[in-house]
Parts: sequence; C-alpha cells; structure tokens
Amino acid sequence: MTDRYQTFTRTPLGRTLVKNLGLPDPTPLPRWTEGSSVIDGPVVFGAITETDTGKAIQAVLRDIGATFSTAAEGVASSELRPKALVFDATGATSTADLTSLQRFFSPVIRQLGTAGRVIVVGRTPELSATPEQQVAQRALEGFTRSLGKEVKRGATVNLVYVAPDAHDQLDSTLRFFLSPKSAYVSGQVARIGTGPLVGNGPAAPLAGKVALVTGAARGIGAAIAKTLARDGATVLGVDVPQNANDLRKVMSSIGGSELLLDVTSIDAPQRIAAAGAELGGLDIVVHNAGITRDKRLANMRTDAWDAVLDVNLRAPERITAQLLESGALNDGGSVVGVASIAGIAGNNGQTNYATSKAGVIGLVQSLAPRLGDRQIRINAVAPGFIETEMTAKVPFAIREVGRRINSLQQGGLPVDVAETIAWFADPASAGVTGNVVRVCGQSMLGA
Ligand code: NAD
Repeated sequence: MTDRYQTFTRTPLGRTLVKNLGLPDPTPLPRWTEGSSVIDGPVVFGAITETDTGKAIQAVLRDIGATFSTAAEGVASSELRPKALVFDATGATSTADLTSLQRFFSPVIRQLGTAGRVIVVGRTPELSATPEQQVAQRALEGFTRSLGKEVKRGATVNLVYVAPDAHDQLDSTLRFFLSPKSAYVSGQVARIGTGPLVGNGPAAPLAGKVALVTGAARGIGAAIAKTLARDGATVLGVDVPQNANDLRKVMSSIGGSELLLDVTSIDAPQRIAAAGAELGGLDIVVHNAGITRDKRLANMRTDAWDAVLDVNLRAPERITAQLLESGALNDGGSVVGVASIAGIAGNNGQTNYATSKAGVIGLVQSLAPRLGDRQIRINAVAPGFIETEMTAKVPFAIREVGRRINSLQQGGLPVDVAETIAWFADPASAGVTGNVVRVCGQSMLGA
C-alpha cells in the first residue's frame, strides 16, 4: 500500500503547499539493506561522568566502525552533521545531574542529521542504589519522550535502561537503535538485564537457529519470516490452509518449511511442537497470526468477540505452554508476542482486539520472570499503524489520521516490526526479556 500523501509532499507543488500551509511533512525513512553499515555518519558521545557503561558504549561504537567524538571535541569541531547523539546518563545519582542533559543536547540537537538517532542510556530505576538515583533515572523517560516529539527529519529518540553489571549486554541493542533497522521505533524505553555473553556475531546472528512464525503467508508475518531467514534462521511458517499458496511462495523464497493449520484448532499446539521437534527443537517463536473483528461493545457479536480472543491470545498462550512443557522450545530460546498499541491505549470499536493484545503483554510479563532459569526470553512488539492488508481495510479518513498522528507522520512498514523482532531473537540480546517495545513512530495514542 502506498502513502500517496507522502509521495505528493516530495513533488514541487507538494513542497510548496506543505511549507505554506504548515502541513505534515513526513521524511522518507531509510531502511537497512544488505551490506550497509550500522550508521553512516559521525556520532557524538557524551556522559555525566566516566562509567563502565560509558566505556562499553564507546567500545560498541569503535566495533561498528563509527567515527565518534566526545561532546567537547565533537560539537565544536564537527563539519558534518552528527548522525547520532549517544548520552550515558547512568552516572546521574541525583536530580542535580539532570542539568547535564540540557548542557549536552541543547547546543547540538539542531545539527542532528536526517534520520538521525538519539540514544540515552540510563540505569534501570528500580535497581538504583539510592532513592535519589531512582528519581533522577526515572526522569529520563520524560526527557526522551519529549525530545522524540521535537526532533525533525525522520530522527528517532530512545532510552535504554541497563541493570547494574549488564553493560556487557549493550551490543545488540545499541546496534539496533543506531541503525536504520529501528527506523520506525521512537519514544521507546528498552530494558537490559544481565545475561550470558553469547551470540553468533552481527553477520548471521541467527545462524543455526530454528524459528516458528505464525501468520507467515503475508503482511507482517511474511516480513518477519524473511528477516529472520536473512539473519540465518531456518523458518517454519504457519498459516491457515486457505492461504497455502501465499505461504508456499514466502517459504520457498527463503528455503523455509510450511505447516498449514489454524492456530486455534485443538491439536495446533501438539502439531507445532511435533514439527518443531523434527527440526531439532525451536529456538525462536513468533506469535504473529492475528485478526480484527471491530464493533463497539454494544453491537459486538459473541462469535466476533470469541474469534479475536481465540486467535490473538488463547492460541499464543496454549502454543507457548505446549512448547515449554514438551521441551520443543530449546533452552536459550526467544519467544515474541505481537501485541498492538490498541492493547496499550485502547481503541474505539476494538474492545475485543485490545483485550487480546493487552493479554499478550500480560503473557510476556507473566512468563519473563518464570523462564529465566532456562535462559528463555519473552518480549512483545506493539505495532502502531503498519501498511498492510489489515490497515488497507480501515476507512480512508481513519487510515489517514492513523498514518499522521505520530512523531514521524507516516505509517510503518512490515519490515520495521520484523527488524525489532530480529533484535529480540538475537542470542546476543540475552539480557533483553520482559520488554514491550512499540513500533509506532511514537504514536500519540497511549503512553
Ligand atoms: P494480515 O491480516 O495481513 O496477516 C495475518 C496473517 O495471519 C494472515 O496470513 C492470516 O491468514 C494469518 N492468520 C489469521 N488467523 C490465523 C489462524 N487462526 N491460524 C493461522 N494463521 C492465521 O495482518 P498483519 O497486518 O500482517 O498483522 C500481523 C499481526 O500484527 C497481527 O497479530 C496484528 O494484530 C498485528 N498488528 C498489526 C498492525 C497493523 O497496522 N497492520 C498493527 C498492530 C498490530
């Protein structure tokens, strides 16, 4: 589906109208392509004080080959616009230290390049050493969410909270937030805990891994299957028998295998577990299959309510339970639920859908602390407006509003959701569990 308004704003007449009438001006967002570097411009790094986290951040910047300078050198001497501003705020021990945010960002924020990146790294507030530190760290959320609404030209702003002693887990998360893989992720808070130092390296992070993707025949599911395969995974794609042709096309393009079933059927969990076991066990499980049956609650039919709850919530719940119980999900694995911003903010006409998607977040939050002993991680993505068949069915006026009411003033692409899932699935993201990350261009809906 094309965003005709965005195309129009790139024409000479469109530019004039946008400028004179103050209309939304969505910047085309670059996406990651094979062979491109993590970041294609200079990075300016700043910190409140020297910390182990700051050293780890600089080590990652060196590793990805970024040209970077510290605040003092960079802002004064850089000829080029910085592509990213990375600030280590873990050293904030009281609210007095918050001054450093303004001192670092105010002089340089206007120079941030097109599709620039701002990353603030803080200490997980609840794991702070003192109440004063907790207050200062919690304050960072307000800063980053507001700055996300101020930056222009397709830039994003995100906050990464790191637990004490987890700075060695920063690599995969910083790579994700610095690169075009996070093009449509802004105003988000990621939390990193401790974990084993594992991973195949960034070239083929999922090499040797087997990934189950439900609803893989089209839309976001097809993009997830392709992205996980790009990163080296063998994919087992699931979809309903009616979509057999589409599923076959996607799976044959990536050398994956297909399993035709309805995820709500009684025997679906057993059949999925058996197919996974045949492939040597599953390492990645993505519960993407989902449906909508929108009506206000007063007009909601029982079958529409039940169908949405069954596909979106009960099926992921039952399948996950079976995979855990049967051992078909390998230790060290990664489960990802696909929620929705409707499950966070609520949406008129979507009580059934929002209930199911908030339940997916509940599933993540209930299981994350319980699966640590097997090193299994579980996270959720919450997409906002993504250009797919599902959103193509939305009436024009509502669709146009959905596209524009976010900081990036456009809809996201299926690949944006897929890239976020690939970051969760990467074994190097061992410290990333219990997260709910919205892929919504910082939608104005919800927190
Ligand atoms: P889509 O309708 O284009 O694709 C969904 C796929 O799931 C289809 O191939 C469908 O056949 C399959 N599926 C549906 N019911 C199934 C069942 N019972 N068993 C097996 N497969 C089944 O939808 P999409 O836009 O790609 O959405 C994918 C996921 O993302 C869904 O969970 C959706 O709720 C979520 N989401 C989408 C958006 C968006 O803007 N498109 C926003 C928020 C969340």
